[in-house]
Amino acid sequence: MKVGVLSLQGGVIEHKKAIEALGHTPVEVKKESDLDYLDAIILPGGESTTISKLLKVTGLINPLKNKIESGLKTWGTCAGLILLAKEIEGEEGHLKLMDIKVKRNGFGSQIDSFKEEKVVEKISKDKIELVFIRAPYISEIGDDVEVLCKVKDKIVAVKQENILGTAFHPELTNDTRVLEYFLNRM
Ligand code: GLN
Repeated sequence: MKVGVLSLQGGVIEHKKAIEALGHTPVEVKKESDLDYLDAIILPGGESTTISKLLKVTGLINPLKNKIESGLKTWGTCAGLILLAKEIEGEEGHLKLMDIKVKRNGFGSQIDSFKEEKVVEKISKDKIELVFIRAPYISEIGDDVEVLCKVKDKIVAVKQENILGTAFHPELTNDTRVLEYFLNRM
């Protein structure tokens, strides 16, 4: 499979390595033509405001939005999830593709980063290590959104049709189960 990774800013390398580890071909997406012939795309973690600005500067924002709307399988991790949300608490949304509201840095500054082990039923019956780095949480969801996981009583993983969103970073562990779910079973 050809799996795109939006490569404007943020944690691109880790996703590319995970894609290769599963025997697929990562494609860095920096301009419109990079979107051709992709089987799926990942929007990585990083800084959502910066990535959003770069999406506009490069002219990628509308072609990317159109591709996802026409069914391209998409996974946003952390900042990537923020980019996909229709609403962001206190600011304007970016791609506005998932019927969710997110709160940036939702787990507070004193616990910016933490790990938690959880079973995410849909993905695996065994626990998965979830890594949160200045992570958002999902504060509201629409009717078509499926909740996959909650941590500290907050929604941290969701699915809506062809789109998966996680507030955590599976690519920062050696565990490829979430990626495998996204590519083969979603
Ligand atoms: N706090 C970042 C933002 O709001 C997201 C952090 C991350 O992607 N690890 O964009």
